[in-house]
Amino acid sequence: MKNVLILLIACFSICTNSHAQTLIPILCYHNIHLGNGVKSNIMHITRDQLNAQLKSLADSGYHTMLPDDLVKYMQSGRHVSPKTFMITFDDSHEEHFSIADSLLRHYGFRGVFFVMTIPLGKHGYLTAAQVKLLSDRGHVIAAHTWDHPFLRPSGKMDWKKELDAPKQQLEKIIGKPVLYFAYPYGEWNDTMISHLKSSGYKAAFQLGAPRRNGLYTIPRMMVDGRLSGPALQRKMAVFMGE
Ligand SMILES: [Zn+2]
Repeated sequence: MKNVLILLIACFSICTNSHAQTLIPILCYHNIHLGNGVKSNIMHITRDQLNAQLKSLADSGYHTMLPDDLVKYMQSGRHVSPKTFMITFDDSHEEHFSIADSLLRHYGFRGVFFVMTIPLGKHGYLTAAQVKLLSDRGHVIAAHTWDHPFLRPSGKMDWKKELDAPKQQLEKIIGKPVLYFAYPYGEWNDTMISHLKSSGYKAAFQLGAPRRNGLYTIPRMMVDGRLSGPALQRKMAVFMGE
């Protein structure tokens, strides 16, 4: 009887571990604009429309997850609320500080900012002081290379310049480890993953639907700035089912 019980427990463990884990919807935004009458599309959203999307999520009971907890979730398979999502902002735009930060905090959300370091302090982009404030306010600062290169056909890039130096620069600015990375244009390959690992990154985020499970190819969904809150939630449900 004892042996049967052990067998049943072992089988249950294998069955639950092999069960596909629910994807956490990870939203990806780029440009945010103050004015209306500005184009809205997959790369652009107005402040009002971003506010409407966030309000819809908050009103529906959604709460944000940050990468440390996402990694724990992916490694442990522990249950999380189906109303969990992550929100990310790419490319170091100044509006991530002047618009997104206050909207996020208004709804009790925290986000992840994937910062490319070359434009820091230049017109229209985040300053080092703003990056530090975002971090101090509970958001996560993560790396997005130095100058946003394409992954060349050779599959190589200047790893020190694009992976190591931005990590060190951002860590110096915020005074905390920088452990997460987003691939420029969502392009990745196995060579890049091995360099990310040896550079000390714990996980990396791509764009689009999953092509492979794992901490270095975490999928995200780019959000169309024209989507209403309910339409966004329907897209998130589709994403979770993929
Ligand atoms: Zn980018």
